[in-house]
Amino acid sequence: MSLRAYGCGQEVLEGLKAETERIEGLFSVTKADSEIARLNAEGRIAPSAETRDLVGKALDLARETDGALDIALYPLLKEWGFTTGQYQVPAEARIRELLALTDWEKIELSDAELRVADGMALDLGSLAKGYTADVLTAKLKEAGVTSALLDLGGNIQAVGAKPDGSAWQIGIRDPQGEDHLGIVSVKGAAVVTSGGYERYFTGEDGQVYWHILDPATGYPAKSGLLSVTVIGPAGWRCDGLSTALFVMGPEKAQAHWKQAGDYELILVTDDGQVIVTDGLEELFKLSQPDKYTLTVWKRD
Ligand code: ADP
Ligand code: MG
Repeated sequence: MSLRAYGCGQEVLEGLKAETERIEGLFSVTKADSEIARLNAEGRIAPSAETRDLVGKALDLARETDGALDIALYPLLKEWGFTTGQYQVPAEARIRELLALTDWEKIELSDAELRVADGMALDLGSLAKGYTADVLTAKLKEAGVTSALLDLGGNIQAVGAKPDGSAWQIGIRDPQGEDHLGIVSVKGAAVVTSGGYERYFTGEDGQVYWHILDPATGYPAKSGLLSVTVIGPAGWRCDGLSTALFVMGPEKAQAHWKQAGDYELILVTDDGQVIVTDGLEELFKLSQPDKYTLTVWKRD
């Protein structure tokens, strides 16, 4: 995590760090006393307003993406070893068995209670960093800060513009190498990337398995995409969408982008294309034109 803010004292940044730890204390699946960990252990909790809010947003996004985003995948993620680093390819029968426990439609959320079925467990990892960036942005604005750049590991949040008024230049990672894929200019926006390159292992069969699962199959999502970057106003939504669109693949992602109308995209496909949506045409510069061909999606 790296936080850079202009026009404020160190104590403001210290406050952001404390705030991040507080939010982690609500949503972490590994901290035994977090609200989500207690829910996973006990099956029901009386949620705080923030947990209710984020789970509600995640359920809305699950509906909107036809279940491509599914915060109930935790039992499967554990079985694959993505939570511990002890990776394994589970037996097919085991995947089928666990898939029955990973249905977001069985999450019950009301003002007073958050409840999951027996054996079910939640994981907000697909949108918690984006949500945290939103909270930190609000705190900075409260403190009068108009220029800051927050990097929460793959989740960038640009607050306002650079101190000189120009746009922030954000480097987008190449999912197939160490150099930048390209640079995008943004002001006051979240820039969130999800990709198969972040956490993965190679199985004994020589196949690469990564940490974003297709809730329809229980296996890593292979949709033709290597990475998805979503740029928009709300961090939680960009974060959740980057995971969901990675699962959905280019065609469904394009349809969703046209219909939603509130974000822009940079996609890398497994056949060497970089696709940007037309709102970024003037704002994105491809760094490696020899390696990738650039395609622009038009809205109509
Ligand atoms: P990262 O956390 O690596 O920056 P993401 O925002 O894409 O990347 O979130 C991936 C995390 O979300 C995984 O580590 C896993 O915990 C969880 N996850 C994996 N597949 C899904 C899915 N289809 N829906 C919701 N969460 C998922
Ligand atoms: Mg995400």
